[in-house]
Amino acid sequence: MSLEKISHPFDDDKLREECGVFGIYGSEDASAHTALGLHALQHRGQEAAGIVSYDKGLFSSHKATGHVGDNFNSQSTINKLPGDCAIGHVRYSTTSDKHSRNIQPIFAEFSFGGLAIAHNGNLTNAATLRKELIRQGSIFQSTMDTEIFIHLIATSKKSRVADRVIDAVNKVQGAFSLVALTQKKLIGARDPFGVRPLCLGVLGDAYIFASESCALDIIGAQFLRDVEPGELVVIDKQGLHSYRPFDQKPKERFCIFEYVYFSRPDSIVEGKHVYEVRKAIGRELALESAVDADVVIPIPDSGVPAALGYAEQSGLPFELGIIRNHYVGRTFIEPTDKVRHLGVKLKHNPNSHVIKGKEVILVDDSIVRGTTSKKIIQMVRDAGAKKIHMRIASPPTTHPCFYGVDTPDREKLIAAQHNNEEIAKIIGADSLAFVSVDGMYRAAGQAKRDNDSPQFCDACFTGQYPIEVLDKDSNLISLFNEQQQ
Ligand code: AMP
Repeated sequence: MSLEKISHPFDDDKLREECGVFGIYGSEDASAHTALGLHALQHRGQEAAGIVSYDKGLFSSHKATGHVGDNFNSQSTINKLPGDCAIGHVRYSTTSDKHSRNIQPIFAEFSFGGLAIAHNGNLTNAATLRKELIRQGSIFQSTMDTEIFIHLIATSKKSRVADRVIDAVNKVQGAFSLVALTQKKLIGARDPFGVRPLCLGVLGDAYIFASESCALDIIGAQFLRDVEPGELVVIDKQGLHSYRPFDQKPKERFCIFEYVYFSRPDSIVEGKHVYEVRKAIGRELALESAVDADVVIPIPDSGVPAALGYAEQSGLPFELGIIRNHYVGRTFIEPTDKVRHLGVKLKHNPNSHVIKGKEVILVDDSIVRGTTSKKIIQMVRDAGAKKIHMRIASPPTTHPCFYGVDTPDREKLIAAQHNNEEIAKIIGADSLAFVSVDGMYRAAGQAKRDNDSPQFCDACFTGQYPIEVLDKDSNLISLFNEQQQ
């Protein structure tokens, strides 16, 4: 992920990234499969995509800004990526962070040969490590924290590649799911807390790593299992080898926001169907904050499964009262605040005849800044709703994420600044309710949140960060610029 501080519609001054990774070993169509896998992971990042493949002593690479479909859509591109193993990456969209030097996978030549690496997550000691490495003579080519892995691998005293990678992953802190490709091996690893997802699949004799299982489905691969928190898996000619290389004892704290919003609803992550968890949150929401109304309406697409659950539990009819235009991207990728506001209108249109004269329950997955809810509520009111009850399928988002999900600083998080009544007033709802933290945990298969040892990372809702954030306020771009001078 990139550590540049740049202007961004979501937030101007914090680290960001949401990415997807894919890796395959032992497939005749490795780069075509990787392109398809990345296509299925496109929701995890729309700014840029890249693939590195390996064949007969040579690594080949194609990286570009834009969507996977726009850049890996021809046989000639795929033909330029020969070999039976490849890794790929999609990265989140930002406005000015479009330097090609920041597109993954990153590739480097070492004493032992070439290595390409791609990573999803945020390293929380990136600035400290980077300073140290620069002091020791490392020259950075990009502002991505992913490049830190490259320099740590290069400076490791170990001789075997896997041992060098193990050395590297033990020095970094934070959330990461990574894939790496060498001349002989495909490597996949997850940090000891397993914050970001990474699963393992098979297709014939080929092994696959992917951020989400939907990337296995698209190529007809079978889901084998999740890579475990703190596990490093090496695939080579001899098969699959699993290591537990971290000094830190693994303690699973999977990101609960992956269930709430980020993963695709057709994925199975950490053993659970994302769709089922979302529906269950909707049911919990209906139990916790029932209200008399005529109809349950989702804010598409992210509110749909929770609204289905809400309707099921409440016995109220479910209607598609808002129709989404699929030819515009996610609201957050619009380049300026002004355009983003317009973006909501571009994206959603009320289906007035199911709204007019009705008391409506609107269901969405989350409220971050409140901009989306405000616009939609106004739109639904203009379409003739008598009353609007907003129901949110996550607790109030009160804290930023430092582990790879793009959330703004606290000043911009509406729930960090206002209580429920105030938020309802600001967004224009007649009533507003969020699911409780325990309700969300129940939906994710737990009896309740274990407050002494929480089962998930829920820092964005509770402010309890499982991994120390050493370099919270660091500005890596300035380090990069210093180094260039
Ligand atoms: P807003 O309250 O206007 O900031 O927007 C909230 C909506 O954006 C939610 O309903 C989600 O569908 C979506 N959303 C939440 N978190 C993110 C994120 N990290 N990146 C992109 N979209 C998000």
